[in-house]
Amino acid sequence: MRQLGPDHIDSLVSIKGMVIRCGALVPQLQVAYFACTLCNDSQVVPIYASYINEPVICTHCKQKYTMQLIHNRSTFSDKQVVRIQETPDSIPDGETPHTITVYTYDDMVDTIRPGDRLQITGIYRATATRCNPRKRTLSSVFRTYIDAIHFTILQGVDTKLSKIPELSRRDVFETFAKNPATYETLVASFAPSVFGMEDVKRG
Ligand SMILES: [Zn+2]
Repeated sequence: MRQLGPDHIDSLVSIKGMVIRCGALVPQLQVAYFACTLCNDSQVVPIYASYINEPVICTHCKQKYTMQLIHNRSTFSDKQVVRIQETPDSIPDGETPHTITVYTYDDMVDTIRPGDRLQITGIYRATATRCNPRKRTLSSVFRTYIDAIHFTILQGVDTKLSKIPELSRRDVFETFAKNPATYETLVASFAPSVFGMEDVKRG
């Protein structure tokens, strides 16, 4: 992660790191659906590199600037912002760990938790930041992130749940059936709030 530099922008990189923060899920527009406000004619526009190519002229009534985005009929994909930090063994002595933002998509969303160690393969990207959100002027300082394509969890977070030995339903059923006191257990389980009356419970 420390070697990432301007040479790597827009090229495939693979880094190792630890998840420190998982952001909220955000929907990202994939196919935009536009409808004309005058004649209700529709146009479907696919999104390339997060840029919406908004249709200017309605193909049906030839009016200009009448197309409106209908987000209920557009297609969205899942996107999650994950913050990755260097693993402690890769930090040189006396230095602070570096972090990087990673965008994960669709199937990769919500599969990792903070603390997981990952090997991430993705495209190193850079976007210019705006000096003022209301102006189009771009700052010469670029913000970098990784568009994840694939990752493998090298070491997951240990939870108590994962340490319970896995017993399948069939195993539980078979050990119960082998027990000679199966019938008595079933009888005792029937209406346990009523004491005694075993012969009635046997039916
Ligand atoms: Zn129209």
